[in-house]
Amino acid sequence: MKLQDLGEFKLINRIREQVVNGDGVHRGIGDDAAVLSLPDGHHLLTSTDLLIESVHFRHDWTDCEALGHKAVAVNLSDIAAMGGTPRYLYLGLACPGDAELNDINAFLKGALAEAEHHNVVLVGGDTCRSPGPWMISVTIEGSTSAHQAIGRDGAQPGDLIMVSGTLGDSALALHLLHAGQAPETVLASRHHQPTAQVALGRQLGERRLAKAMIDISDGLAGDLEHILQASQVDGCIEENKLPLSEAFLRYACEDPALRKLALFGGEDYELLFTVAPEKAAAVAALGAELNLSITAIGVIQAGSGTLSLQDQTGQVRPILVRGYDHFCRS
Ligand code: ADP
Ligand code: MG
Repeated sequence: MKLQDLGEFKLINRIREQVVNGDGVHRGIGDDAAVLSLPDGHHLLTSTDLLIESVHFRHDWTDCEALGHKAVAVNLSDIAAMGGTPRYLYLGLACPGDAELNDINAFLKGALAEAEHHNVVLVGGDTCRSPGPWMISVTIEGSTSAHQAIGRDGAQPGDLIMVSGTLGDSALALHLLHAGQAPETVLASRHHQPTAQVALGRQLGERRLAKAMIDISDGLAGDLEHILQASQVDGCIEENKLPLSEAFLRYACEDPALRKLALFGGEDYELLFTVAPEKAAAVAALGAELNLSITAIGVIQAGSGTLSLQDQTGQVRPILVRGYDHFCRS
């Protein structure tokens, strides 16, 4: 069955039937606006992301359920990067009329499962026909205790630069897909079904461990530069401290040029944050508690936004940042 055979309102009803409104949802899907509440004393966090077919994903490389998961996960990652708790989800969906209903259902299954996994409720959205590509808009509202949101601008000289998980796996998977090769499962899932570090972000916020934080969507170097520029400090990272997965190392051994993906590749959706040295042990304990690897990769220094890399020979040089920019393809 095609989407055009079902129609907009029946689709919205089907979506509505799959959603359970939890605490705080006074009105969810079905009215002109959602009516919601936040815990007392909390500030509202809102983040939105677009995913456009042929720009962010290709149907021949990903299945629709994974796409639904990813659409929600990338947005959850932004709330995590503020040290917040994600709560409410909005889904804008534009698909061609001849889109297969099975594909839409699979997309919704993936999106709703990922939302539910993080106690996030779908409370609204919009649905329309697209003249061609799928276009997905995801908005998540979350909250933090008043004045506890972690921005990009809090890094100070002497802080350690830390990152969760491993770097470059998603970009390596994409590189292999472009080369016509099938990435192995562990790499493919890092690209198609990234994990948002929601618990880590929230705990770093609640325990006041991170001073500045961002999620890595455009690549380590580019996203770290955002912290350095917002905080007006310099940063130096050590190449041999970058956390790399076994799979990544295997490919990088064969082709050392791939190592740059750990620095410049996008879509890791790990958290990158700075920590006062006296809090490093508490961060390590939190990592152990959550069963996540957290690695100190460098230090913040006085300066005005320059990132340097100490390479494996010990030489330090400024990094020319090449994070992903949708409008600059140099
Ligand atoms: P309007 O004409 O005001 O845009 P709609 O008919 O588009 O209203 O939407 C009716 C209800 O369904 C609203 O609560 C809206 O938020 C919700 N809704 C529409 N599309 C989606 C979707 N893709 N996912 C979740 N909720 C949706
Ligand atoms: Mg509408």
